Amino acid sequence: MSLSVYLGEALARYGFGEGHPFGPDRMGVFWQRMLELGLDEQVRVCAPAMAARDDLLLFHTPDYVERVIEQSKTGRGYLDYGDTPAFPGVYEAAATVVGTALAAVTAIMQGEARQAFVPIAGLHHAARDMAAGFCVFNDCGVVIEALLHRHDCRRVAYVDIDAHHGDGVFYAFESDPRVIFADLHEDGRYLYPGTGAAWETGKGAAGGTKLNIPMRPEASDEDFLAAWPAVEQHLEKYPPDFILLQCGADSMAGDPITHLRYSEASHRHAAVRLKALAEKYCDGRLLGTGGGGYNRDNLARAWTAVVEAMV
Ligand SMILES: [Zn+2]
Repeated sequence: MSLSVYLGEALARYGFGEGHPFGPDRMGVFWQRMLELGLDEQVRVCAPAMAARDDLLLFHTPDYVERVIEQSKTGRGYLDYGDTPAFPGVYEAAATVVGTALAAVTAIMQGEARQAFVPIAGLHHAARDMAAGFCVFNDCGVVIEALLHRHDCRRVAYVDIDAHHGDGVFYAFESDPRVIFADLHEDGRYLYPGTGAAWETGKGAAGGTKLNIPMRPEASDEDFLAAWPAVEQHLEKYPPDFILLQCGADSMAGDPITHLRYSEASHRHAAVRLKALAEKYCDGRLLGTGGGGYNRDNLARAWTAVVEAMV
């Protein structure tokens, strides 16, 4: 089986309590849908792993990692300016998201899997020195650093179709020409975090390596499909050694905190096309992460559509 899916209690634990949009029930909802579709029999199920402190330091500052460790003991206060609360064990839970994404990368780079999907991951808002928007540690950022520095990738592509701009990834690598970034998101004038304008294309030597496509509120599958070819052209221009897909389901119609109106057809299209590009340029190496998505039915449909496209 060429696709590994990462699943387990330790991974599900990353959430901000029952009833919170980012609640601990999200993984179970996804897996239930996998079972209903019989997709569970077509993937290799792998267990989560917790990242070591050194793994987190590939991307995050030592001061910030210490702060999360301390606040994890008391479970009090916020890890940013008021969106992302600490909870007892938040360090272990957030480090498990990162460790699991890293385990998926290692499995792919060592040839044990061609593709992988981690449902509770894709925490794209966290900065190097601070949490943001329900994201404590930025597994995408850590994975990109690991690919560049531990696995000697020359170039890594990061594609993000979550409704929110992947600001934590974008600004961390804004000046790094090795990170090929493409992000379709709801226009920042209408949605958190407010960034990702079309003119933000990378700085200095990285000028042109970043593609931001703001979508109007209410944008549909038709709008997505019309915008999508630019992503493929961007990756064709800078062929990567590895492709990361953050396939947040909050860009679907009915999400409680955003205004885009895609169906899972957009997520499926992105996964099918990126898999083809991965086969063409990087021996199939593709990692999908679940990202956001706060309507439970939507996240189950979007993530299983991505898995189905990858198997
Ligand atoms: Zn989002």
